[in-house]
Amino acid sequence: MFKQASSLSLVIPVHNEMGNLMLLHRRIRDVMSSMNDRYEVIYVDDGSTDGSFSVLEQLAATDLHVKVVGLSRNFGQTAALAAGVAHSRGEVLILLDADLQNDPADIPRLLVKLEEGYDLVSGWRRKRQGDGWLRCLLSRLANFLAARAAGIPIHDLGCTLKVYRRAVFAHVPLYGEMHRFLAAYAALAGARIAEVEVRHHPRYAGRSHYGLDRTLRVLLDLLLLKFYRSFATRPQQLLGLPGLLALALGVAFLPLVLILVLLAGRSRVASWSGPLFLGVLGACCFGLLSLQLGVLAEMLMRTYYESQNKQPYVVRCLVSGTERCECW
Ligand code: UDP
Ligand code: MG
Repeated sequence: MFKQASSLSLVIPVHNEMGNLMLLHRRIRDVMSSMNDRYEVIYVDDGSTDGSFSVLEQLAATDLHVKVVGLSRNFGQTAALAAGVAHSRGEVLILLDADLQNDPADIPRLLVKLEEGYDLVSGWRRKRQGDGWLRCLLSRLANFLAARAAGIPIHDLGCTLKVYRRAVFAHVPLYGEMHRFLAAYAALAGARIAEVEVRHHPRYAGRSHYGLDRTLRVLLDLLLLKFYRSFATRPQQLLGLPGLLALALGVAFLPLVLILVLLAGRSRVASWSGPLFLGVLGACCFGLLSLQLGVLAEMLMRTYYESQNKQPYVVRCLVSGTERCECW
């Protein structure tokens, strides 16, 4: 299955996008056929429950450029992209969303830029459509911090529409919700990155999968990115530092705490200041330790997948033309 080589692979994650797929594919076909290139369109059905998969089967039956990877359940956008990349053959990969917020008509301009000698060309949604002002503001803030954490002057890391040379994917983690930071991780590996302004439309049909709560998760992923950039090969210098500080503070404040405890019986103020102090200290230590454990758990998780060659998704079936191969 999927043996034919193609020079361009479009990879599109799909979760409950039934109302978008026909129009999306028509737009893709118009653009790609005008470029006269060998190409394939890999749709990854990420456990849709709205009938998207049968629409994808129809597309595969009528267009031999289409390949469908059906996952066994909903694994999330990043895992769906990982599955699509793993089943693609092109030397250049084009990632985009299925909801028509990205415009396939922008693909040729991104490819022209790639040919100038870049490894990755990222879309910049300068005028975002269909996202509220708060979401745009938070996204700008996250992009600003991410660009700093990765050390690259990119305005819009979160735009899915990007084109990549295949080699880039050997150096980017496709776990959790890392699809937002692919350019940042590629930059850490030394990829040459450029940015091109792209159009952005309101969602054509269906609903966004993310609410404002993603801001916090993006923040945690940003911390991880910063860790990977600065401390991946010397974790003790980050994780050990708060330990050292806490130890020093503990030793320095021990006499003070002892005095407070001794005074506890005599003064009202001293009676609650001791527990309060310890409580605040405890909360800070808990926060720091949790963050550090999070970083360690993430490293372990990546080791778990990579050392055993495990994937963060399970493929149920592959569809090409009218052929269907059951994998699970
Ligand atoms: N998506 C997916 N699995 C998920 C969530 C999203 O495959 O669990 C796909 C979704 O179908 C779309 C893309 O990821 O093609 C981006 O999702 P969405 O448009 O909801 O994100 P937003 O544009 O709101 O950031
Ligand atoms: Mg969208």
